[in-house]
Amino acid sequence: NADPSQKVDYVFKVVLIGDSGVGKSQILARFARNDFSLDSKSTIGVEFQTRTLLIEHKSVKAQIWDTAGQERYRAVTSAYYRGAAGAMLVYDVTKRQTFNHIARWLEELRGHADKNIVIMLVGNKSDLEKQREVSTEDATEFAQKEGLFFLETSALAAKNVETAFLTVLTEIFNIVN
Ligand code: GDP
Ligand code: MG
Repeated sequence: NADPSQKVDYVFKVVLIGDSGVGKSQILARFARNDFSLDSKSTIGVEFQTRTLLIEHKSVKAQIWDTAGQERYRAVTSAYYRGAAGAMLVYDVTKRQTFNHIARWLEELRGHADKNIVIMLVGNKSDLEKQREVSTEDATEFAQKEGLFFLETSALAAKNVETAFLTVLTEIFNIVN
């Protein structure tokens, strides 16, 4: 990642959005640093983290943006969305309300972002099966209706986080190539 001799072929900006507490910062920590913390504090001062990976023998730098406590309605500024090629729209499978708010986040995203943006609906905290309030079927149906990719993840268990980002980054890669 920090190797300056590494040539970067592409930089793709991907934004994380969704209600506070759904696990956006931990999803990013898992993807960027393979790290997780149970008592995560909001990331102050850090706008994005990067990870460079290979897609079809090209070096792709993923620049993943995280909100820092701006999750209130319309508090995320247009600068956040500017230039984003991908978006992770995150809810918490144990909190119905965070899924109910997804339509609103999607509307805001579509109002600000490029029309070709690649969007992944992410149902996080899939490790908490006993507390589940959002069925996989409901989310699948919503994603199909809206034309979104969809995966359930667990930042805690490191489940599907890598796949979610790789799916979005590969789709962006295919669009620009
Ligand atoms: P954010 O506000 O969307 O950035 O959410 P955070 O990443 O700060 O996570 C909020 C809380 O949920 C923290 O206590 C995390 O440790 C916890 N959390 C995040 N992801 C998971 C997960 O996949 N499973 C479980 N059980 N807890 C998680
Ligand atoms: Mg956060």
